[in-house]
Amino acid sequence: MSEATDLLSDHIQHYIGAHHVDSADGDTFDVIDPTTNAAYISCASGKAADIDAAVAAAREAFDHGPWPTMQPRERARVLYAIADEVEKVHAKLAALESFDSGLPIRQAKGQANRAAENFRFFADLIVAQRDETYKMPGRQINYVNRKPKGVAGLITPWNTPFMQESWKLAPALASGCTVVLKPAEFTPASASLWPGIFERAGVPEGVFNLVNGFGETAGDALVKHPDVNLISFTGEAATGRVIFANCAPTMKAMSMELGGKSPAVIFADADVDQALDSTLFGVFSLNGERCTASSRILVERPIYDRFVEAYAERARKIKVGPPSDPDTEIGALVHPEHYDKVMSYIEIGKEEARLVAGGSRPAGLEEGNYLEATVFADVAPTARIFQEEIFGPVVCITPFDTDEEALALANGVDYGLAAYVWTSDVTRAHLFSHAIEAGMVWVNSHNVRDLRTPFGGVKASGLGHEGGYRSLDFYSDQQAVHIRLGDVHTTRFGATGYADNDLGLGGPSA
Ligand code: NAD
Repeated sequence: MSEATDLLSDHIQHYIGAHHVDSADGDTFDVIDPTTNAAYISCASGKAADIDAAVAAAREAFDHGPWPTMQPRERARVLYAIADEVEKVHAKLAALESFDSGLPIRQAKGQANRAAENFRFFADLIVAQRDETYKMPGRQINYVNRKPKGVAGLITPWNTPFMQESWKLAPALASGCTVVLKPAEFTPASASLWPGIFERAGVPEGVFNLVNGFGETAGDALVKHPDVNLISFTGEAATGRVIFANCAPTMKAMSMELGGKSPAVIFADADVDQALDSTLFGVFSLNGERCTASSRILVERPIYDRFVEAYAERARKIKVGPPSDPDTEIGALVHPEHYDKVMSYIEIGKEEARLVAGGSRPAGLEEGNYLEATVFADVAPTARIFQEEIFGPVVCITPFDTDEEALALANGVDYGLAAYVWTSDVTRAHLFSHAIEAGMVWVNSHNVRDLRTPFGGVKASGLGHEGGYRSLDFYSDQQAVHIRLGDVHTTRFGATGYADNDLGLGGPSA
């Protein structure tokens, strides 16, 4: 028996209308241990019939249950209880996440706190929520009537899966929506903690539903379901395009958090030691399987050679090893299919650029999805490894001579998720940040989130921004209600020959 099956039963089910159930057709799939690629657990494989059942449960809870109409304070209490329950299972969550996705246990340990914080944050927001009211003196009073949008379909990826799920579940539930979650098929284990967490926190029946399965079957059925009011999706840009098209016939609201190829631009006047630490962490933490990874480092020519040498030296010392080892800095990539994709980019990179660190399976780790921290230098902007998202522990370093060239390199890809700017010149920091085509910019720092700020990308990195009140706006309809206070001029159509209306139908003047 493996460590993870000590924490789980050996079979993961769906959770529909407060019942743990298998697929209607009994189908299952195997979940793989990334350190051996051996199947270690089976999971129910959802299809359209299971999605139908989950959407029906969510619709019933939305139309007839207490959740959408609860007072914000009451809902916030439940969200706080969810956060407490998440923290109670932090050790189990870290172990499951590390085992299932190959994330180093040290990095998996922070996931429960981040997930819990998402629930507390949105609980606070709904209690403090204000909506606009406008007065036209003596004539009209107009206000926004905020209403939960309905049944939310949430589709999530396999990198830090539990945290990603919480980032959608918290604002959806806070807004009063009911939900159907479809987690990534590579990593279903940690999502199986949600039903217990929600039950113990007092979430009413049917508000949360979970259907496991593949994107092309369960995910597709959720996207196309006529009773689902919105889709919040995080995943690859290519999948986003398919979902975008599939949402069109039923005109669903969509939020898309997609891939990235984010630049870190390091000017010669920066604190280069800090930039070195930060960009090493920025691309090699979370196994490099990180949407906001600084996977293209652009370095000003006078410091380029020194930077590349120091970066490669540090990368060679990064400890790759079993995810459960507390000293491991890079664990095992999530799945053999993904590993093969990353390894194919290494071969492409060897043709396109100068390999200065890594590029191979580490010695002594003969099975499982292990790869050394890999650094390519002198990468041309036309190279595929510069342009395409690799989503593994692989980084490109490219020199530049002027601010204009740095900007052209930074913006010269399809993606626009995050950017990192390193300089001690305040004016340049602002102007360069404003000119970068990225949804989020950090100056002299890696990705440190403030939950109040917008999160999302531009170009191929996404559509719509969540974060803070923007998330609540996405999961709510904002209806404008206009109340007449005084006379409203009405042009009288068809009134020729009539002096006044006198229909004798009642009303204030009758
Ligand atoms: P993916 O697109 O392969 O899958 C994501 C989810 O979509 C999975 O649950 C999958 O089952 C589902 N899916 C696949 N095809 C579908 C379809 N036709 N209809 C409905 N659902 C479908 O992505 P992935 O490989 O799981 O995740 C990695 C990607 O996610 C990377 O590109 C990464 O940059 C991106 N990502 C982005 C952010 C962000 O916030 N911008 C955060 C994390 C990950």
